[in-house]
Amino acid sequence: MAASTTKNKRSKSSFKNKVADYEKKIYDLTQLLEISKSLCSVLDYSTLIESILYICMCQVHVLGAGIFVCSDFESDSYSLQDYYSGLDTDPLIDYSIPTESPLIQFLTKVERTFTLKELFNEMGSQDIPQITSLKPSLIVPLKQKNRLIGILLLGERIDLGEGIRFSIYERNQIQSIASLAAIAIGNANLVEMTTTDMMTHLKLKHYFFNVLTDKLDISISQRAPISVLMLDIDHFKNFNDTYGHACGDYVLQEVAHIISEGVRTHDLAGRYGGEEFVVMLNNTETSTAMMVAERIRKNIEKKEFEYEGKKFSVTISIGAAVLSENQELTAKQLVDNADQALYISKNSGRNRVTLFSGETA
Ligand code: GH3
Ligand code: MG
Ligand code: MG
Repeated sequence: MAASTTKNKRSKSSFKNKVADYEKKIYDLTQLLEISKSLCSVLDYSTLIESILYICMCQVHVLGAGIFVCSDFESDSYSLQDYYSGLDTDPLIDYSIPTESPLIQFLTKVERTFTLKELFNEMGSQDIPQITSLKPSLIVPLKQKNRLIGILLLGERIDLGEGIRFSIYERNQIQSIASLAAIAIGNANLVEMTTTDMMTHLKLKHYFFNVLTDKLDISISQRAPISVLMLDIDHFKNFNDTYGHACGDYVLQEVAHIISEGVRTHDLAGRYGGEEFVVMLNNTETSTAMMVAERIRKNIEKKEFEYEGKKFSVTISIGAAVLSENQELTAKQLVDNADQALYISKNSGRNRVTLFSGETA
């Protein structure tokens, strides 16, 4: 009788354990679904990297995380993305790993997670300071099909009473999150490539209009100002005609660089077409917009351009338009207003900034 009661108790407790196991699995699957939904809805590259790191730290209970990504198809290395958190970097180390390196070659062929010790055992005794200096508790290749999209490093594990080693189940979970992250990064890379002008690295016109339309809606509803600058290089054709098309390309790249350096991270600079650029200045009223435009104009004027040993200077004409409080304009109307002001700059001698002063376009 006593034996059968003990047996009953045991089978009851094993049943309870099984239920708890299933409940955990259902919970983990639901979490994975949520992670998948949230990562697939983020296309902005930096927001995505931040979200992946945040998700990893919360789900896996680690104090830090970082990602190496080969983001540009022209790039020949995987570099540690900003926004890493809780990992101590060494200022003397360049955190980029060449695509040709044994580590990248190795991780491209595998689809599982590694501790540092496991990695070195499998690879042989290679030291990789970019990885070892960060003291990761786990190294996770981010694979999409046969491509190594990146490398995820998890930092120090928080001990929640079950030790700091990852179980096989946890490693499988991390692997699943890594697969979702790899797909999301791959998609964000594609969006980044198709919305960016590869020569100047500025955003393309249609992307600019999309963002401006969204920001205008917010500005109009919050009665906040927003400004647009249209910029056009003066007598650009001369650089092509005098020094060749490659020199024209060099001028475009340098000017684009000065423009993007001249605006804040929450503003947006785009290549509108040939040698025309456009800038959105978020939350910016007339006097600041004019100041920013004047600063860009001066920075271009004072830069000493040099191509194949020949020195020359470049100037730019700018038109500015502002959506002021209580105004309601479409993105196209605001850009047209800036374009009209640019036309006045061109006709009144070039190398100047003009503010649109009409009612609407
Ligand atoms: P303005 O001061 O009136 O603006 O004169 P401009 O010479 O700058 O303007 P125009 O529109 O006459 O010439 C623009 C030139 O830009 C013509 C075109 O061949 C050249 N262009 C457009 N896109 C590119 C490019 O990607 N690379 C190079 N090198 N040239 C380009
Ligand atoms: Mg021009
Ligand atoms: Mg032009």
